[in-house]
Amino acid sequence: MGFDLVVRGATVVTPGHREAADIGIAGGRIAQLGGTMTGTEELAAHGLLAIPGGVDAHTHLVHQGLAARVGFPVWVDDFWSGSRAAIAGGITTVGNMTYPVPDEGGAEETPGAAITREMAGAAGEAAVDWFLHPILLHPAALPEGEVGALAGSGHASIKMFLSDPDLAADEPALLAAATAAQAAGSVTLLHCEDGAMLAQAGEQLIAAGRGTVANFPDARPVAAEVAAVDQAIGIARRTGARVYIVHLSSAAALDRCRRARAAGLPVYVETRPLYLHLTRERFDEPDAAKYVGAPPLREQFDREALWAGLAGGDVDTVCSDHAPWTLQAKLDPALNVVTARQGVADLETLMPMLYSEGVVTGRITLDQFVALTAANAARIFGLYPRKGAIAVGSDADIALWDPGHRRTIDGAHMQSRSGYSVYDGWQVQGWPRFVIHRGQVAFADGQITTRPGDGQWLPRNRTAGILPAAEVTPRTRAIFRECPGPELGADVAPVQNVAQDSVHGLGPPPWLQASAIAMTATVVTSHNSSTACGKPRRWYVRRVCRGPERERRTARREPTWIFSRPGISSPEASRVNMVSRATSAGSPLARSSLIEFRACCSHVLRLITGPPIASPRPPRSRRLGEHRDDRPGGAGRAGRAGTGLPAAPRPRRRRPRRGS
Ligand SMILES: [Zn+2]
Repeated sequence: MGFDLVVRGATVVTPGHREAADIGIAGGRIAQLGGTMTGTEELAAHGLLAIPGGVDAHTHLVHQGLAARVGFPVWVDDFWSGSRAAIAGGITTVGNMTYPVPDEGGAEETPGAAITREMAGAAGEAAVDWFLHPILLHPAALPEGEVGALAGSGHASIKMFLSDPDLAADEPALLAAATAAQAAGSVTLLHCEDGAMLAQAGEQLIAAGRGTVANFPDARPVAAEVAAVDQAIGIARRTGARVYIVHLSSAAALDRCRRARAAGLPVYVETRPLYLHLTRERFDEPDAAKYVGAPPLREQFDREALWAGLAGGDVDTVCSDHAPWTLQAKLDPALNVVTARQGVADLETLMPMLYSEGVVTGRITLDQFVALTAANAARIFGLYPRKGAIAVGSDADIALWDPGHRRTIDGAHMQSRSGYSVYDGWQVQGWPRFVIHRGQVAFADGQITTRPGDGQWLPRNRTAGILPAAEVTPRTRAIFRECPGPELGADVAPVQNVAQDSVHGLGPPPWLQASAIAMTATVVTSHNSSTACGKPRRWYVRRVCRGPERERRTARREPTWIFSRPGISSPEASRVNMVSRATSAGSPLARSSLIEFRACCSHVLRLITGPPIASPRPPRSRRLGEHRDDRPGGAGRAGRAGTGLPAAPRPRRRRPRRGS
């Protein structure tokens, strides 16, 4: 089998599993993992880790022409310089914050108009793939149906600022926007600092003669963050909206989120590198202003709590909040605690710093690094497993990581136009040596080899949002742990609100349907009576048809999924189906790569690929229940020579009713 590109010899990192395996890439996607393959081009990657290209869901890139139009200083990276910074740091997808600005006539754009403008501006500049978060500055004044219309056109998230005193005080508008987002399948991003408390603290400092930027942390106390996080949790509780708290900074706020998640509320937590690496002592330095971001740098125990949150699963994502200024702009002496320019460049340093300070030191595992930098953001924002996974069928976005490479950070010679880094002088171990973006080598040995416009916009439709891990019921977790193979036990957080077509049997997601790669798959769905939708618990195993059967069904316009065991009502029976999977000879990666795992409401759905191209021999059948000891570490593992397969299930041709 000839591929466009074959990556030789890297250690492929998938959840709970790593293995030296070749990667075959065709048509911009991963087409084979392990086994024999040849490629038109080949890349030697021995000694490197193959990890998913980073998904940084929080950036502030400004397309060209906008700065001149708005007439005030704006962040200095456009989508091209931002893309270069991302790629040089192993990131291949960014989620950008889209601000409404005054239009040509001076009136503020609607969020939809801002998105239209930014879509056009980003398209010719971006070299990484990108999606946009519409910002609602004035939700009370939104055009009718705006949130739903944005989601319908692929922008399934909104962002609001509780740091705006007017907005934070307008609870009905906040609830209405979050309710609309929930109905549209969008995630609600919230900047959590209480606007009224910030205003009061800032005024008091200035009145007391302590208005210089060195006092910035005192202008934005932890209490303001906690108050706003409480409000955000209240919004999640009252509307059911999935709330994503951007750049969480303190131990106290994290504790509130942890409790909310334990209570089953859909609250996601993002933090950013600043709070993991720096503390407020930096504000004692003469150029304190260069560290300004909101919320501000916190205390050492906050930093430790965030690291513990990364390791413990209380924090979902580490995103850059890349908001770059030049050092000169940051250090402008006219600025004070209220007007200080917020944000720093962090796209290029996010992954290497987290690897160096997290994985190398043992604070987090390599799996957690991948989850925090790629997989979780891809899930939350509806891009998984197209993004965030090294798996057959996924986009070939791969950072080939040199775990031993050391470099000293020097912002003056990095890609961002900010020209400095808050980590200048730090010794960092672990950098990408090559970065592959949709099958093209975008970065090689320090050189950017991609061009403006090589990035694609990623539409998101009603597909957003894993549930926090705390929401996995003990029973669900126990059932999944029965599945054979370490990779199946490691990655079981249910996902919420998948596209309806892939939950209710109308076929695989469009991107998968469009794939030229033939694959066998097993899908498991559940319907759990204990959760919101209140339907009876039922389990299914579904299989994607292949070959002539698929063609026949396609010609008859029938679903290409087969429900192999519908209507099973007990966890015991479902366990039996869980262990059914298509397998083949070859590497464990080739045998079963997780390529999709989503759910709607209480639905749990997994898609496990079998042999990616052609099975060397037909898979064998096994009786149900024979895999009881095949769980990780189970007694039966050593003796398992063969492979599991669905136990001759009786296919059901009828399309299931919606909501079943
Ligand atoms: Zn931001």
